Amino acid sequence: MSTTACDPERATELAASLHDIQAKVTAAAGSHNNAPTLVAVSKLKPASDIMGCYQAGHRDFGENYVNELVDKAAALPTDIKWHFIGTLQSNKAKALAGIPNLHVIQTLTSAKTASALDRQLPADRASPLNVMLQVNTSGEASKSGLSPLDAEDGDASGSLEVVDLASHVVSSCQRLHLLGVMTIGAYESSTDDTKPNPDFEALRQTRDALETALLERYGERKWGIDGKLLMSMGMSSDFEAAIEAGSDIVRVGTSIFGQRPKKQ
Ligand SMILES: *Cc1c(COP(=O)(O)O)cnc(C)c1O
Repeated sequence: MSTTACDPERATELAASLHDIQAKVTAAAGSHNNAPTLVAVSKLKPASDIMGCYQAGHRDFGENYVNELVDKAAALPTDIKWHFIGTLQSNKAKALAGIPNLHVIQTLTSAKTASALDRQLPADRASPLNVMLQVNTSGEASKSGLSPLDAEDGDASGSLEVVDLASHVVSSCQRLHLLGVMTIGAYESSTDDTKPNPDFEALRQTRDALETALLERYGERKWGIDGKLLMSMGMSSDFEAAIEAGSDIVRVGTSIFGQRPKKQ
């Protein structure tokens, strides 16, 4: 048996939880926005679990550690769309750039890393590599990410990290495509369902202000999908609230795969 083959019982279990989460995603989307993408976060889970989901028809998977992703990508089907969602250092850009079916890096925070990726991506890659800028909406020192923008920042002239990095990608990184913005956040909607989650609000404001600032600068929408920047927000504990707040991409691990082992 190959190391990626999934035990039939486990495959049935995974298909059921995927189906359940996908149904909740679809229900939460309602008529708000069109079909958000469910990313199954498979970090620290075996390749066989990913294969189980794959056999159930799922294609979008999220990984946090470069070496783990490199190994899994080499062992698993090439039509998987990999989402890198971990902390990224520029010295790991080469390893990531070598994965042909890496769909998006959601956690870009520096121009240095953007340039390193742009340099390392093969010239014959099928399509530009999507990148999203990670925003630290909760302002916690323990989380990486750029400072969020306020509603007024769209036409501000000062130096704004998010606008600067986005402009760097659009102007100077031909092999990258600016897809949107991403946050992890600190607040769980379950603490108070009646108030809008401040992380989701902050990411939406950042996205809107960034679009305004970029449009000012470039005059044409060379980013996102059909010119709209996407938002990646929402995890196991709050993905439905995130979708109601306009999320385009939710990243769900525990609710699909169960508890993760501790990182060694
Ligand atoms: C691990 C992780 C997730 C998934 O978290 P769960 O609570 O298990 O759903 C989502 N996003 C990021 C960035 C992560 O690191």
